[in-house]
Amino acid sequence: MRTQLFIDNEWRDAASGELLEVVNPATEEVLAAAHAAGDADVDAAVGAARRCFEGDAWRGLSPRQRGALLHRAGELLHERRKEMAELETRQNGKTLFESRIDVASTVETLQYYGGWADKLDGAVLPVSGDSLVYTVREPLGVVGAIVPWNFPLNLASWKFAPALAAGCTVVLKPAPETPLTALAMAEIMQEAGFPPGAFNVIPGDGPTTGAALVRSPGVDKIAFTGSTAVGKEVMRAAADSVKRVTLELGGKSPNIIFADADLQAAVKGAQNGIFYGKGEVCAAGSRLLVERAVHDQVVEELAARAKQLVPGDPMEKSTRLGAIASKRQHDKVMSYIAAGKAEATLVAGGSAAQVNGKGYFVEATVFDGAEPGMKIVDEEIFGPVLSVIAFDDAQEAVRLANQTIYGLAAGIWTRDIQKAFRVARAVRAGTVWINSYNLYDSAAPFGGFKASGFGRDLGREALDGYSDSKTVWVGL
Ligand code: NAD
Repeated sequence: MRTQLFIDNEWRDAASGELLEVVNPATEEVLAAAHAAGDADVDAAVGAARRCFEGDAWRGLSPRQRGALLHRAGELLHERRKEMAELETRQNGKTLFESRIDVASTVETLQYYGGWADKLDGAVLPVSGDSLVYTVREPLGVVGAIVPWNFPLNLASWKFAPALAAGCTVVLKPAPETPLTALAMAEIMQEAGFPPGAFNVIPGDGPTTGAALVRSPGVDKIAFTGSTAVGKEVMRAAADSVKRVTLELGGKSPNIIFADADLQAAVKGAQNGIFYGKGEVCAAGSRLLVERAVHDQVVEELAARAKQLVPGDPMEKSTRLGAIASKRQHDKVMSYIAAGKAEATLVAGGSAAQVNGKGYFVEATVFDGAEPGMKIVDEEIFGPVLSVIAFDDAQEAVRLANQTIYGLAAGIWTRDIQKAFRVARAVRAGTVWINSYNLYDSAAPFGGFKASGFGRDLGREALDGYSDSKTVWVGL
């Protein structure tokens, strides 16, 4: 297991001498002591990334060669998929079932952007007068990628794969709780043939390592995924050096079930929408809006399903509800559940749990009778806690759906195709799933409206966030 910093294709102890304890949240065992980057380490990583960005070893590569490196990294990750999935589960507490999906989609993201590297073309523009004018896409430079602990490897790849495809170099700061798969990925990137400085990994906490990266004058862009509160700080701090910023922030996404929906599919979708990944999913469908005519039936079936979804050993193949990623997050989720018990009606779960006498587990929890103004409805919990709100018609559903500062995602369950499209249009969210939930693909852009941030990960659109347009005039 790698625990040192990865800078300039070398493994180094942190000059800061600081170490981070990485804990398995399912067993409470200390997994590793990872080196934590301080200011001098951040400077070293940014310096390496800048030298690489300006040097021949990287700039001299054709876009197709850059793409081939990403493809190779994807192949190597695929070869190590079992080990990587197990490592992800150990550090994050998510089930092995989910970690396998994470690793497989990371492979796909690498392959997808490997394919894009040589397709970033410009245009010839029809200007007046005697000139040839064309545009080219230029890489932005050094990208600081800052990611959270919920999908440690997969979300990192949403940043570093398009950044490298566009010709940028990367300094990745994983979350302090989950640095291990990012470090293992560094090993893969080196083996794939990325030159020194193209991809650097510096674990550390937010206020020290993250803030230093955001301040660093050598960084051209910060690609951030995390909470809205920290996103605001990042945006403020980035202003001093006029850095580009993209922010993928929190959510409180509505999942709307109309009475005319396929109710079996809708209830299953509601369950997966909130309990997949223990609800530590930015797009989790944490507000379930249900049309009053089917409300009782939906709540009854959902509560029954939630009660069957018991927390288990995440390393067991059959487990579908793992451990909350850290004690801190566990305590935060439990405090929201306490608030929920005081303001709504608990119909499933509601307690902390342990597996083999250990671990930070929380039962799959459902509150009925929820409404705006309640903490469990207005605030992002980031845990397996669902709030059910009843509505009377489509107009009210849309009003409730949009009654939030966030705008990351939404779900709509109905057999009425016109209503589905109308509501999809009216909901202010970056992603809308109709008769489905929590689907992702490397080709499909993902990001927020409103306080859920701006800029897009994935798809062709992500590449625009790592390159700038240059206009070239040729006098004829
Ligand atoms: P967080 O904001 O606390 O931390 C995210 C990252 O930012 C971590 O690496 C952290 O160390 C770093 N950080 C913290 N303070 C910093 C600072 N001052 N300067 C620079 N970096 C700093 O979030 P979290 O608790 O790790 O993750 C949960 C949050 O992430 C939730 O709000 C969730 O919705 C959001 N999230 C959003 C998406 C999305 O795509 N929109 C995806 C996953 C998670």
